Amino acid sequence: MAFGTSDRRTRRVLEDGSTRQSLAEDCRDAALSFMSGVAVGWDKLDLALWLTGPYARATRHAVHGERVAAVSEAENIPDETIEALVTRVRGQLLASIEKAALEFGALDFAAEVVERGFVRKVVDADGRDAWIPVDGARMRLRDRLRSLFTADYLNAPYTYAELFVCHRCEAVVFDDRAKQLGICGSHRISGVVPRDDRAHDDETDDEA
Ligand SMILES: [Zn+2]
Repeated sequence: MAFGTSDRRTRRVLEDGSTRQSLAEDCRDAALSFMSGVAVGWDKLDLALWLTGPYARATRHAVHGERVAAVSEAENIPDETIEALVTRVRGQLLASIEKAALEFGALDFAAEVVERGFVRKVVDADGRDAWIPVDGARMRLRDRLRSLFTADYLNAPYTYAELFVCHRCEAVVFDDRAKQLGICGSHRISGVVPRDDRAHDDETDDEA
C-alpha cells in the first residue's frame, strides 16, 4: 500500500505545533503563489524569492541534509530559460489541475509523488497522520510543485471537491461558487454584478 509504508511509531512527529490544516495551508499558499505569479510573468529573481520564501516555508519540515539551496540551481540558468521553464511547469500543472477539477478533485499525479518520495508521512501536533513536501537535491521544479499540491491534497482532500480553474483568468481557486458560475471571485462583487455597479468594478475587460 503506497500511502502507508512507514511504521507509525518510527514516524517523525512535528514539534512546532504544525497540524494537517496548517501544513495544507502552507503548501497551498506556496503552490498558488507560483501559479498566479508565473501567470503575470516571472524572471530569475521572482523564482529565487519564491524558493527562499513560500517554498522554503512549506518545505521547512523536511529533514536537514535533504534540504538544498535551491536558489544556486537557478543561478546557473540564463534568464530566458528560467522564464520558459516556469511557464512550462505552470502549464503542466494547470493541465493536471483542470483535469482534477472535472474529476471531483482527484489529482492524477498524487500516487506517483507519494511513490517517488516527494512527500513524506509524519505525525502532526494533534497526533494525526499528515504529509509534508520534500525539498530534495535533484528534484525538478515540476516535481517541487507537484509535491506541494500533493501534500495539500493528502492533508485536506475534501477541499479538492471545490477545486476550480477560472475560465476567464486561469486562476486556481478552491471555491464552490466559482465552480458553479464558471468564473472566479475577481470578476464579480457578490455573485451577480448589477449594471449600475459595473463602472466601479476593477475588471475592465469589457472596455478594453
Ligand atoms: Zn478569474
